[in-house]
Amino acid sequence: MSGTIKFQVFESESRFLDPRKGFEETVEGFQVRIDPLTGRTGHFSHFGAIRSQRLPLEDYLKPEVKGFCPFCKENRDKRTPKFIGDVVPEGRLTRGETVLIPNLFPYDIHSAVAIMTDEHLCPVEGFTEKRLYDSLYVGIDFLKRIRSINPELPYHLMSWNYMPPSGGGLVHPHQQYFATEFPGNQFTDEYRASEEFFEKNRISFWDELLKIEKNTGQRFIGETGKACWITPFVSLGILGEIMCVFPHVFSVDDFDEGDMDALVSGLLKIFRYYSESGIYSFNAAMFFGKKDQRFFPCHFRIIPRTFLNMRDYAPDLNFFQSLLVEPVSVVIPEELCKEVKAYF
Ligand SMILES: [Zn+2]
Repeated sequence: MSGTIKFQVFESESRFLDPRKGFEETVEGFQVRIDPLTGRTGHFSHFGAIRSQRLPLEDYLKPEVKGFCPFCKENRDKRTPKFIGDVVPEGRLTRGETVLIPNLFPYDIHSAVAIMTDEHLCPVEGFTEKRLYDSLYVGIDFLKRIRSINPELPYHLMSWNYMPPSGGGLVHPHQQYFATEFPGNQFTDEYRASEEFFEKNRISFWDELLKIEKNTGQRFIGETGKACWITPFVSLGILGEIMCVFPHVFSVDDFDEGDMDALVSGLLKIFRYYSESGIYSFNAAMFFGKKDQRFFPCHFRIIPRTFLNMRDYAPDLNFFQSLLVEPVSVVIPEELCKEVKAYF
């Protein structure tokens, strides 16, 4: 079945007289890639022009910056909500430092927030194996509970905004877990395209993709347990993207403790890479498809986020993402793969 997945790159260049070189003629290259699953495009340009900015973490603890945090231990009991009885009879779910509560600003019928740490401020190096595992364990437990209560909500998601550049409203580390019929356009496009691919070719796009990526090695970072880590052919993040695919997990019910270990083990390696590369902020998400299908395996995505500068806090998203709904990346996936592989 080779040849069923196409990796298309359109490379081109722009010429101009460069004031930085005495107005010599200069050539800048750029690429447009077509996502082999969805057919959506992604731009690659501005290579090396955007660097992750150092965040003033120490300032986030100053009272005038910190303000009121409902997730801090002293406020949690009185200022965070509790679940109604049929969802979580105990009111909140806890394990280690993690406390899972309903989202005061819910995304859907069942929408939770996992407060991950006792401490208000946790730099990426502070995410220990236990902290990551406990948060994931509690979140997955919640998703499994709501799947059995409302099985008609077919899709399950974990999402995570970490630090202010990511859009996270609170510095205190937290993840969101929810079930929904409307999981967003990226998920929906991938899901439909995966189903169509399966119907047309009688094989899973994802199995085929992993086979190719493993063989060529250009974008294959490594494995932890049964999970495979790659850099996607088209990046959703401006500073690149890392994806983890669980080829044997289809719905949230299939995700077991071994898979949690696999995700945590890979995340620890990525956080070491982030820490050494000066990456202070990210968005992450994990997608689970419907029960009883075999074409859309669970996958996790993580992208660094940054302010463009610390002078006026320009965000790293612009008209491309907000109005053209087109990802732009300044990092080539094959180069990112090489860098991250050293940590696996
Ligand atoms: Zn706090």
